[in-house]
Amino acid sequence: MVDQKRLVDNFFEIVSIDSLSFKEKKLVDYLARKLKGLGFSIKVDGAGAIIGGNTGNLIAHLPGNSDKPPIYFNCHLDTVEPGIGVEPVLKDGIIRAAGETVLGADDKAGIAAILEMAHIAVEGEDTHGPIDLVFTVAEETGLLGAKNLDWSLVTGEYGFVLDAAGLVGEIYTVAPWQNTISAVFRGRAAHAGVNPELGVSAVQAAARAIETMPLGRRDSETTANIGEIKGGRAPNIVPELAEIKGEARSLKLNKLDRQTDRMVQAINHGAKAFGAEVDVDVAREYDGYNLSSKKKVVVWASEAIKHIGLEPIYASTGGGSDTNVFNSRGAPTVNLGVGYIDPHTTNESISQDQLRLAAELAVAIALR
Ligand SMILES: [Zn+2]
Repeated sequence: MVDQKRLVDNFFEIVSIDSLSFKEKKLVDYLARKLKGLGFSIKVDGAGAIIGGNTGNLIAHLPGNSDKPPIYFNCHLDTVEPGIGVEPVLKDGIIRAAGETVLGADDKAGIAAILEMAHIAVEGEDTHGPIDLVFTVAEETGLLGAKNLDWSLVTGEYGFVLDAAGLVGEIYTVAPWQNTISAVFRGRAAHAGVNPELGVSAVQAAARAIETMPLGRRDSETTANIGEIKGGRAPNIVPELAEIKGEARSLKLNKLDRQTDRMVQAINHGAKAFGAEVDVDVAREYDGYNLSSKKKVVVWASEAIKHIGLEPIYASTGGGSDTNVFNSRGAPTVNLGVGYIDPHTTNESISQDQLRLAAELAVAIALR
């Protein structure tokens, strides 16, 4: 049974350990020590060296009954800024940060829930199958830990990510594909007052491109945005350089392709209209996923949710998470609501009740 005091104490300890992206080592050391003490074997992969962080991903393994399929749990270790010196406070059943920081319940509520599950799993060895705990670095900066995870260290065939805002009981089975679209417009500099006719304005070309581009919410499954623009040197110089960067997402890959094509077309037309050159780059940030409610991993999660007395709520998200990367690597994986609200803000909070339910859910998944 979940030990509420141990759970909350561990959560307080975990959020008090600074772990901004690329600086997760202290938290890795803490979890490695705790999990080793519980009988898990511990490995840290080489992702840190690849991405420039001070540690790699932590993979902890607990052997179990080999008649049951191996599973893995995942949470990310890093938090967003302002996230240094978090001081958690419990008041009226709600946990918040005392100062001007995020709480870091995203994703440390999930980590605390998994740690509580680990305590309970080791107490009754033959009731669970083999369990991997995969704690990833640098999720917040583009899923970098998951993208560089050493999969040879993971044996789980089904994955459960505890990293969704919203109530415990929500199962995210659908998430978008995402492309990043960048363009560099090259015009010709000229004196803006003496001979502007000799210049080609890269800024005007970029502006035309953006103006004619379909952006915002395109339909219920597709969104697009230009989020960065820079260019020009001074008011009296026709600008020779302008850069724009944006993204498109869709729950359907063919819609993402269509949306991306239209953005690239608008970029090329904008350049052409002013006689500028343009280099366009399209990069896939991550693949989406769409798991049917009959998929074994979804059934597994929903039965666990029912087991703790809740009704499963199937949900889709417009955001990407490590779940996207895991699904594209072939292990069917769901993302689960952990109960925190207002993540990435200094108002972030989680109730003690939701934290307990998150731990109960992890236990129900593992000991199924
Ligand atoms: Zn998160």
